[in-house]
Amino acid sequence: MFEYAPAPESRAIVDIAPDYGLFIDGEFTPAGSDGGVFKTVNPASEEVLAEVAAAGPADVDRAVAAARRAYPSWSALPGAERAKYLFRIARIIQERARELAVLESLDNGKPIRESRDVDLPLVAAHFFYYAGWADKLAYAGFGPDPRPLGVAGQVIPWNFPLLMLAWKVAPALACGNTVVLKPAETTPLSALFFADICRQAGLPPGVVNILTGAGDTGRLLVEHPDVNKVAFTGSTEVGRQIAASVAGTGKRLTLELGGKAANIVFDDAPIDQAVDGIVNGIFFNQGHVCCAGSRLLVQESIADVLLDALKRRMTTLRVGDPLDKNTDIGAINSAVQLDRIRALSDIGSREGAQRWSPPCELPDRGFWFAPTIFTGVTQAHRIAREEIFGPVLSVLTFRTPDEAIEKANNTPYGLSAGIWTEKGSRILAVADKLRAGVVWANTFNKFDPASPFGGYKESGYGREGGRHGLEAYLA
Ligand code: NAP
Ligand code: MG
Repeated sequence: MFEYAPAPESRAIVDIAPDYGLFIDGEFTPAGSDGGVFKTVNPASEEVLAEVAAAGPADVDRAVAAARRAYPSWSALPGAERAKYLFRIARIIQERARELAVLESLDNGKPIRESRDVDLPLVAAHFFYYAGWADKLAYAGFGPDPRPLGVAGQVIPWNFPLLMLAWKVAPALACGNTVVLKPAETTPLSALFFADICRQAGLPPGVVNILTGAGDTGRLLVEHPDVNKVAFTGSTEVGRQIAASVAGTGKRLTLELGGKAANIVFDDAPIDQAVDGIVNGIFFNQGHVCCAGSRLLVQESIADVLLDALKRRMTTLRVGDPLDKNTDIGAINSAVQLDRIRALSDIGSREGAQRWSPPCELPDRGFWFAPTIFTGVTQAHRIAREEIFGPVLSVLTFRTPDEAIEKANNTPYGLSAGIWTEKGSRILAVADKLRAGVVWANTFNKFDPASPFGGYKESGYGREGGRHGLEAYLA
């Protein structure tokens, strides 16, 4: 094996200010007296990147009022005019892609290879895609004159900060809604840079407002009486609270929650491709992926061969500096998330599963967790049922296709699943019986703005992406 020389991407391309205000009515403003400030850190070094305003109740009122004022003229624009703004935003994102990718890796901890090659291209693609719909809403299958809903309150998580923003903002604006968005507390920066892009694109003030803050700010936003539509991505627990608070208010709601996806490998699968799909399924973005393939279901007859190949492949994964272009696995996003991953992994060992990680040296500072697999996992184990949201794979075996389907569906979640087999007929037969919103066949974690994404059961409801994604923002 050869060694890799360091290949760091320069952070000189991004200029992070020492502090940031809230983005309300086209201006950056400090939080009011009932708000506050907080720091955001680089999880790979624990270095403070910036101090950010935390929106309080009066700020949420101000932002929602700005979005309300902007709504009549924004919603009255012909779709082709709204499209021009969205195309402009998409092109600016492409022009500033390198800057935004470095920023995202700094604030989130994800490898630059992923922010550069996955997040940013998908962010731009999402804006291009929905820009294309803005003047065709009458032909989207929702009647001849579908109307926007009004002010959308949107709350997003930290795992794909800018991409989740794109999933929420692009369809909302295309349909003629105005937006107040709250990014996650640990990853506020790319949303604030997006605010700057909105100004650069000449977007009318108040059409997009960004409120940074913690969970309380999110709660104030979704509970605000003048919000017409709530869109949330995050944990099932918070999703449940939001569903309860929105019930009976007449607000429209979409929820994109957790997952515990089965990645099913049949005995006729191409082993090497499957191994790479398993690695991509669970170690992509440190496993901070709601649709991660966190349960490997492998057919018993090939389990030993497959696990040997998987372990060999895992010894080649490079964990470390997110800005190094050779890094496969970056930092865990926060100390809190690292504690959660550690706690559930310890429970896995205590309940009797066998834990294995390749030898790998973790940096001294920052939040890190080695890629890990658990074998000998049964359905009763907590690591087979609960979302770990980290680079931890639970391996179960099965003998027949029916048993695979039964085990795959034996979860309160239903966001995604994977099937690995040579037979097209088996793909179709099994996919038909899986209760999951997205089923990948002989691939995993592939996203496209044209294809809808969303869950069954406790993974939430509503779809984002594609023509289906318009429905959540139209009356
Ligand atoms: P979370 O608490 O659900 O956070 C998601 C977003 O909601 C964040 O912006 C959060 O703000 C905000 N929020 C928190 N409490 C709220 C409330 N009562 N009302 C409105 N908004 C609220 O998720 P987390 O704590 O970051 O992660 C916990 C677990 O959720 C993870 O371990 C993982 O299992 C799951 N998760 C799933 C996804 C997904 O894509 N489906 C994404 C992230 C996490 P703050 O960030 O400031 O708290
Ligand atoms: Mg951060």
